[in-house]
Amino acid sequence: MAHGTPHRRINVAIIGSGPAGFYAADALLKHHAFVDLFERLPAPHGLVRYGVAPDHQKIKSAARAFEKTARRPGFRFFGNVQVGRDLSIAELRRAYDQVLITTGSAADKRLGIPGEDLAGSVSATELVGWYNGHPDFRHLSPPLDTKRVVVVGAGNVALDVARVLMRHPSELEPTDIAEHALACLEKSAVEEVVILARRGPAQAAFDLAELQDIEGLLGVDVGVEGELSGPSESHTLDRAAAQKVDYIRSLSRAHQLTAHRRVIIRFCASPVALVGRGRVARVRIERNELAPESGRPRGTGDLSTFDAGLVVRAIGYRGVPLPGVPFDEATGTIPNDRGRVLAGRDELIPGLYTAGWIKRGATGLIGTNKVCAKETVDAMLEDSVAVQAEGISRVAPAESSGCGVEDLLLARGARFVTYDDWLRLDEIERTSGACRGKIRNKIATVEDMLAALDGRPERWAANQG
Ligand code: NAP
Repeated sequence: MAHGTPHRRINVAIIGSGPAGFYAADALLKHHAFVDLFERLPAPHGLVRYGVAPDHQKIKSAARAFEKTARRPGFRFFGNVQVGRDLSIAELRRAYDQVLITTGSAADKRLGIPGEDLAGSVSATELVGWYNGHPDFRHLSPPLDTKRVVVVGAGNVALDVARVLMRHPSELEPTDIAEHALACLEKSAVEEVVILARRGPAQAAFDLAELQDIEGLLGVDVGVEGELSGPSESHTLDRAAAQKVDYIRSLSRAHQLTAHRRVIIRFCASPVALVGRGRVARVRIERNELAPESGRPRGTGDLSTFDAGLVVRAIGYRGVPLPGVPFDEATGTIPNDRGRVLAGRDELIPGLYTAGWIKRGATGLIGTNKVCAKETVDAMLEDSVAVQAEGISRVAPAESSGCGVEDLLLARGARFVTYDDWLRLDEIERTSGACRGKIRNKIATVEDMLAALDGRPERWAANQG
């Protein structure tokens, strides 16, 4: 879509400093906007820091592009500021020309089966956050004293979880994995991870490369179980999917595996109950068949039960509502038209925008957010140009520049973290990591991050034990 640079430099507040937030900031700064980026945690980069697996450092290198963005003139970072607690959406909308929400998908979908809330049943959101040092999940302590773990879902997140659980801890040690997670994985008794895919190989959401990554793990066998053939799908699959199906079908059956440690993908099976006294001990599953018309999984009534002491639900993420912003409960996203937030069917909220997973749902790779952010930024620029040229009211007029917000935060005693503060934290983590032969030693609580910035790193050291 054609768009230009507004004559007057616009002030934009972005909420959420993950990939979508940074890609949008970069595009806006190139058009000479002033961008204030607000983040709930003291550390920026969202999913790149807290979602991408620690043994996928190449993907984490996306953070280098974000550092470049942060050095552009007109950029400010307000870490440790929670919109809805420290500032309201209404206050941001008054202080800025435009407000862009890029808060991602911080929650997980539910299975809705008995036993889902037993101890030993965790979501991928929690487990991934835990091994990545996310402050919200510092105290998760997943029970790894079990021989078998079940991961529900057949997406890339499920494979990430299986790989991290089965990779030898010595290979994780040099990464930026959280120290508390590494200590727990070093004592792990897990020998088998069973991935439950509710449909067949042709519908598996994971990428072949991710499966091959698991196959490459030292001393770990990968096998399959369940129904591997689908309803005459071969002519409807694209090349990559057909290649993946062929590959899956070429894998050993679970009973043929010989290694002591193994990952088994069980196709066409769904959990129907998690069973145990106070903690998950067994998983009851049902064999599925696919409805010929819709391809949807439906239970056959063929039930079986097996032992497992930890169940990880990796069936997709969903967004969390932000006070004062419309939210679609069904999709877990903010209703929008190419990034413009909608109050009703066709009713736009002037000056309010969204990008990333909270805009379109939790799909796609890190880079997908660049395209998504660009679509929204194009709309934002188009609206600002229109408002400045014709005086139409698609963009709410800002009462002041965003600098009023800094005063407001100071008056409220909020302890916000600037980008320079973050760079200091980054340096502290890297230096501490280097002493231990790691890429970085992540500080995993907000209190410890603030203490490290205040020159009290001993608090963090004490917490690490
Ligand atoms: P996803 O790709 O949407 O996969 C979710 C999986 O859960 C699907 O297999 C889905 O099966 C299954 N599922 C959903 N509801 C279920 C239910 N009630 N019972 C059983 N299974 C259920 O989501 P994700 O794995 O969370 O990944 C999110 C996005 O991040 C994806 O786009 C992914 O590619 C990306 N990602 C990429 C990487 C990487 O590149 N290394 C790593 C992590 C994540 P159905 O297909 O039958 O619905």
